Amino acid sequence: MRYVSTRGEAPALGFEETMLTGLARDGGLYVPETIPQLSAAEITALAGQPYEDIAFRVMRPYLGDSFGDDEFAGIIAGAYQSFGHEARAPLVQLGPNHFLLELFHGPTLAFKDFAMQLIGQLFQSALERRGERVTIVGATSGDTGSAAIEAFRGLDAVDVVILFPDGRVSEVQRRQMTTPDDANVHAVALEGDFDDCQAALKAMFNDFAFRDRVRLAAVNSINWARVLAQVVYYFSSATALGAPHRPVSFTVPTGNFGDIFAGYIARQMGLPIEKLVIATNQNDILHRTIATGEHVKAGVTPSISPSMDIQVSSNFERALFDAYGREGGAVGQLMQELAEKGGFPVSQGALETLREIYASGRASEEETSEAIRAYHRRTGEVLCPHSAIGVHVAEAHLNEATPMITLATAHPAKFPDAVEAATGHRPPLPARMASLYERNERVIKAINDLPALEALIEERIAR
Ligand SMILES: *Cc1c(COP(=O)(O)O)cnc(C)c1O
Repeated sequence: MRYVSTRGEAPALGFEETMLTGLARDGGLYVPETIPQLSAAEITALAGQPYEDIAFRVMRPYLGDSFGDDEFAGIIAGAYQSFGHEARAPLVQLGPNHFLLELFHGPTLAFKDFAMQLIGQLFQSALERRGERVTIVGATSGDTGSAAIEAFRGLDAVDVVILFPDGRVSEVQRRQMTTPDDANVHAVALEGDFDDCQAALKAMFNDFAFRDRVRLAAVNSINWARVLAQVVYYFSSATALGAPHRPVSFTVPTGNFGDIFAGYIARQMGLPIEKLVIATNQNDILHRTIATGEHVKAGVTPSISPSMDIQVSSNFERALFDAYGREGGAVGQLMQELAEKGGFPVSQGALETLREIYASGRASEEETSEAIRAYHRRTGEVLCPHSAIGVHVAEAHLNEATPMITLATAHPAKFPDAVEAATGHRPPLPARMASLYERNERVIKAINDLPALEALIEERIAR
C-alpha cells in the first residue's frame, strides 16, 4: 500500500513512513493511492463483533507489510483497553431512526482518543524496531493535547511536548495535560492564544536544524494514521443498524474535517452511506462551501464549542483532491489561492461531486444551547456543545427510510459551564476520573519566543 500527496509532488511512501512523517514535503497531505474494498459479505461479517476485531479487519489492508498481523492485533488491544466502556463506541437511540454514537469513553473523554491511543502504540512499536526516538510537539486548543499526552505518556521512544494557550483552556482540559507525572510529558503554557501556539509549532518545523536535532514529529489531525483509526467506528455503528443491507447516514460535528473524512473513506471502501452531513458552529466555512460553492475564510469567533472554532480546515484538502479527480496540481493552486487571497470558488464539477456525498448545516450559539436543553428534557441524554450541534443539524436530515447516526464527539463533563447554563445541572466527571481535581499539576510557563522555546525543549527531552 502506497500513499501519495494531495499536491502531487512529494514521493509516494509506505504506511509507516507516512505515519512518522505527517505532512508531505510539498505541503500536501498523504492519501492512499487506491482505497481497499470490503465486499458486502465481509461487511456483513463485522456486525456484532467486538470493536477490536472490527478495527483489525477495517485497518489491516492499509498497513501493507509495515506491521505483522499479531503485532497489529496486540497494538489494537493495547490502544482501547483504557476505555471506560466495553463497546468502545456505543450507540444510543435519540428518537425515531436517530442514533447517537458516543465517542467519549476514552481516557480524555473526546473522540480523539480513538486515533491517538492507537498511534501512540504504533509509534512505539515502529520506533523500537528502528532503534529511534522522536520528539512529538503539538499545539492544542484543548482536546488534541490531552489526547496526545494520554497516548504517549510513559512510552520510552517518545517525548511529548504540548503547547497550549495559557489561561485559555478549560480547567478539565488543563488538568488533563498538567497532571500526568511521566518524565516524557512536557505541558507548556504559552503566553498568547491558540494561533500563537500553532505559529510557534510551524516555526519549529521550519527550523530544519532544530527539527533534525530533536527528531521532531507531528500527530496533528492531518496525520493519515489518525484518519484511518476513525474509519472503524463508521463500520461498527452502521453494521449494528443493518448495513450493508440497509444504508445509513451520518451527521458529524466538524472543524478540521478529519472525523467526517474518515466517514468518506468508509463509504469509498464499500459501506453504504447515503449522506455525510457536515455540522458546523458559527465558524461555518465548510457549511458555506457546500451551500454556495465559495470556500472563503472569515475571522474565527469564539464559541461554546471551542474544538470547532476553525477557519482553515486542513483535511478538507483531502476531499478536494478526490473532487478534483486527484489532480495534485489543481489542489496546489487552490491552496495557494486560499493562502494568498483568503479563499477560492470550487469548480462546478467538483461542487457537484461534493454535494453527492455531503450535505451541511450550522448551529448558532442559541441553537446549540437549545439542543442541549431539549435533548436533556426529551431523552435524558446530556450532550456536549459539539455533539449538540450535530443533533441540531441532523434534525433537518432525518427520514423514515435511512437511520441517522450523529457522532457525539466529547463527554459533557469536559464543557461543564455550557452544559450547566443550558440544563441547570453541572455534569459530573465519570467516577474513574474523579480525582482529576486533586492531583498535582506540573506546567512549564513560556513566553512566545522561538529561540527560548527551542532551548527549553532541548533541555528537557531525553536523548
Ligand atoms: C476535534 C474535535 C471536533 C472536530 O473534529 P475534526 O476532526 O477536526 O473535524 C469536534 N468535537 C470535538 C469535541 C473535538 O475535540
